[in-house]
Amino acid sequence: MKVVIVGGVAGGASCAARLRRLDEQAEIIMVERGLYVSYANCGLPYHVSGVIAKESSLLVGSEQMFRGVFAIDVRTKCEAIAISPKDKTVELHDTATGTVTTESYDKLVLAPGAASIRPPLPGIDLPGIFQVRTVPDARAIREWIERGTEFLAGMSNYSGIQFAKPTRHAVVIGGGFIGLETAENLVHAGFDVTLVEMLDQVLAPLDPELALMVQGRLELHGVHLALDDGVAGFKQQDGGELEVQTKSGKTYPADIVILALGVRPETALARTAGIEIGKRGGIRVDAQMRTSEPDIFAVGDAIEVKDFVTGEWSLVALAGPANRQGRIAADVIAGRNSEYRGTQGTSIIGLFGCAAAWTGVSEKTLTRIGDADFEKVYLFPNAHAGYYPGAKMLALKVLFRKSDGRLLGAQALGEDAPGVDKRISALAVAIQMGATVYDLEESELCYAPQFGSAKDAVNFAGMVAADVLRGDMPLAHWSDAKGQFLLDVRQPVELVVESVPGAVNIPLGQLRARLGELPRDREILVICRSAQRAYYGTRILLQNGFKARNLSGGMLTRVLASAA
Ligand SMILES: Cc1cc2nc3c(=O)[nH]c(=O)nc-3n(C[C@H](O)[C@H](O)[C@H](O)COP(=O)(O)OP(=O)(O)OC[C@H]3O[C@@H](n4cnc5c(N)ncnc54)[C@H](O)[C@@H]3O)c2cc1C
Repeated sequence: MKVVIVGGVAGGASCAARLRRLDEQAEIIMVERGLYVSYANCGLPYHVSGVIAKESSLLVGSEQMFRGVFAIDVRTKCEAIAISPKDKTVELHDTATGTVTTESYDKLVLAPGAASIRPPLPGIDLPGIFQVRTVPDARAIREWIERGTEFLAGMSNYSGIQFAKPTRHAVVIGGGFIGLETAENLVHAGFDVTLVEMLDQVLAPLDPELALMVQGRLELHGVHLALDDGVAGFKQQDGGELEVQTKSGKTYPADIVILALGVRPETALARTAGIEIGKRGGIRVDAQMRTSEPDIFAVGDAIEVKDFVTGEWSLVALAGPANRQGRIAADVIAGRNSEYRGTQGTSIIGLFGCAAAWTGVSEKTLTRIGDADFEKVYLFPNAHAGYYPGAKMLALKVLFRKSDGRLLGAQALGEDAPGVDKRISALAVAIQMGATVYDLEESELCYAPQFGSAKDAVNFAGMVAADVLRGDMPLAHWSDAKGQFLLDVRQPVELVVESVPGAVNIPLGQLRARLGELPRDREILVICRSAQRAYYGTRILLQNGFKARNLSGGMLTRVLASAA
């Protein structure tokens, strides 16, 4: 069997290596247009700032390794330019020599990835405007930055006191994870960074209230946010520096501009074969990664995937799915019956020492598709036991089915980045296993004080959500609070910091004794800082015949509610 794989990075390389492990006899050719195979594009933003100092660290697998260990005929600087499904051939263009050859195949795998979006805006090709997609892209950015630092490099040898330091400006366009990671790394590299984003929030997969927290984090570290504004064009000033112009008419000076406007599936080659392209613009495949041409498979950023929760076709450019899809294509080519389960979009981003992560569906997606059978809970547990030094709070939002408790999605943010990672990863597995909030209550998770709590945040999320579904804790959200009777069960001293106008304050410890002060003919919404004491208060009220609901997330979600 002869298999040709187009694209030699995440999906392509994982497909090639897996296929060799399954079939020692197959002839495997892997062609890659670029200079490198199997490199870590996820590490590129960190190479820009020097956090990953050596370019060679990004080259995870080499051409030699694929040849030597896996007996794969790897051809870099080799672009597949046309496919003939009828003849089962693919035309290959050697970009170094210019020669074009025709290669036959029994099976063809397309793993061409996605291209950075580069709209034809005025000035977009000016020097100093970059994208972060490949190793050469990162190298070009580093060289540009280093060129601009000659003065600063000289100053580091200066033995006097240095009072003045020229400010260098960077403008990052696009508030997705590549834009945000690059913005952080440019801050580390000493730039004054402005982030321009067309939407009114960063990280589009997050719900706005979680994005608001991310935005706060960015601003805390000096990133200027220009949200709800698109880029209109670029100009070069007389001194050589750039000016970024936005649709609202604002201008931002820039010594460097990074375009991070998202990606578009590479489908040009698939189109030459008449392969079906889906409505979202990606290659259509079945659960076995087969395209509309039965001997042609496609994986990675180039394809449309079924959203695991909603079942909708979607485009999700992530390394994990690309690797798994490459493996599944190899399995199927080798005669196994593997199937892809769909994509949950599980993601994490590190930002100035904190992390934001998400999995599954968001509230805004559920709302967009008109799915009202869901409830949400907000929790703010510590990432590990509060009594162990260094405990930091996590913000966690969990979405689940009202009808049966099935988990739908989760989003988290916190300064304990491994704590965020652990919870969202656990919830991602739970979602894929079709777990309910009742399963979360019973999940047995690692615990020692420096890592978690005996009642882990994941258990806690399950308990809170299950309490809601069982009717033990009727839930309200800030959007329900207008005109309601609000009972604040915090200590009076806490109200000095922040209080809700019109709320009646009865500290939790006094509640049983002061029930007579509360109305029996009205529903009472109970508030505290994070909703835990309010839960205790709600239980007291319910068991004393009052109609009461707990305000989810308490005061901690109040500020966020304006964004939701
Ligand atoms: C800066 C950056 C940071 C990222 N960070 C993360 C992260 O933290 N987490 C995460 O999950 N994902 C991350 N991603 C996304 C992740 O890297 C991609 O989802 C993943 O690499 C997709 O794999 P793929 O095989 O589909 O495409 P790619 O890995 O992009 O590989 C496609 C390859 O095909 C080659 N090719 C295209 N057309 C042809 C042709 N006609 N002939 C020959 N070769 C061709 C291209 O040159 C390219 O090298 C990041 C991406 C970038 C750019």
